[in-house]
Amino acid sequence: MDPFGRKQRILIVDDVPENIKMLGEVLREEYRISFATDGRTALDLAFSARDGFDLILLDIMMPEMDGYEVCLALKENRKTRNIPVIFITARADEADETKGLRLGAVDYIIKPFSQAIVKARVKTHLELKRHRDFLEHLSSLDGLTGIPNRRRFDEVIQAEWRNAIREKSCLSLIMIDIDYFGAYNNAYDHVAGDDCLKKVAKTLVGSVKRPTDFVARYGGEEFAAVLPKTEIEGAFHIAEQMRKNIEELNISHSASLADIRVTISLGAAVVYPNTSITLEYLIKASDGALFNAKRSGRNQVKFISL
Ligand code: GH3
Ligand code: MG
Ligand code: MG
Repeated sequence: MDPFGRKQRILIVDDVPENIKMLGEVLREEYRISFATDGRTALDLAFSARDGFDLILLDIMMPEMDGYEVCLALKENRKTRNIPVIFITARADEADETKGLRLGAVDYIIKPFSQAIVKARVKTHLELKRHRDFLEHLSSLDGLTGIPNRRRFDEVIQAEWRNAIREKSCLSLIMIDIDYFGAYNNAYDHVAGDDCLKKVAKTLVGSVKRPTDFVARYGGEEFAAVLPKTEIEGAFHIAEQMRKNIEELNISHSASLADIRVTISLGAAVVYPNTSITLEYLIKASDGALFNAKRSGRNQVKFISL
């Protein structure tokens, strides 16, 4: 199982269907198996798979594109770079094995192989992969609120920026900041402040609807929402919904000059990314809009269309 309770996925690549069949029989019970009989198809599968493969068993000698080339292409692609590759091959030379390991394979099994040994090695590498995935998952979450952290935000917004350039689509960013939160901490204490942050985080995450919408804790009492393929009307609607939802939490804030409850200010910006503008520009613009919302009295949304 992967950290999310799913069976782990293995891609078997071999130009001889009998070899695939034999490996499949050994592994099918415990893992989800996909296969390809040539390198090109293997790469297409690996690049497009939605939740990705956990392990690739790769033959070396195949017509057109050999296993080394496939491995190299996998290691050069951001999406597939971290999938462990095991070569399973009849090439028993030390030089071949060295080449395979240098290309980034985690293991090298020589045919004809023992089924028990293949099974055991696959198990070891899949366990390591699961631990890595779990740590990766943990390291992307904010410890206090449990929502994605700044590190994850940076990854997601960069990926969405590239996506938007490729697809010529727009990208909205909302920066969100709790109003008079310093005063809240002073009035109610830090524990209450932490508790408030958790509630606000949960409410913001619950305010977005699409699977590609993304909310993170940006730092301190600041949050950010990335909304791919969302025009300014949509971004404004989500931002306004967030603002209302926080109001409706009804968390008393006697020290706020904006309201009697905890409120947030939001700055939204939308852009059609291209190579002549930078992501920093979008972030600065949303920050500017947020600053405007603060200056105009807080508990409101301001936006900029770039
Ligand atoms: P403004 O309305 O202009 O945003 O005022 P503010 O007081 O919210 O802004 P400021 O940036 O001056 O203060 C933010 C405060 O947020 C400072 C800090 O005490 C508090 N804060 C940041 N991170 C945490 C946290 O993890 N827990 C708690 N309890 N407080 C935090
Ligand atoms: Mg604040
Ligand atoms: Mg702040």
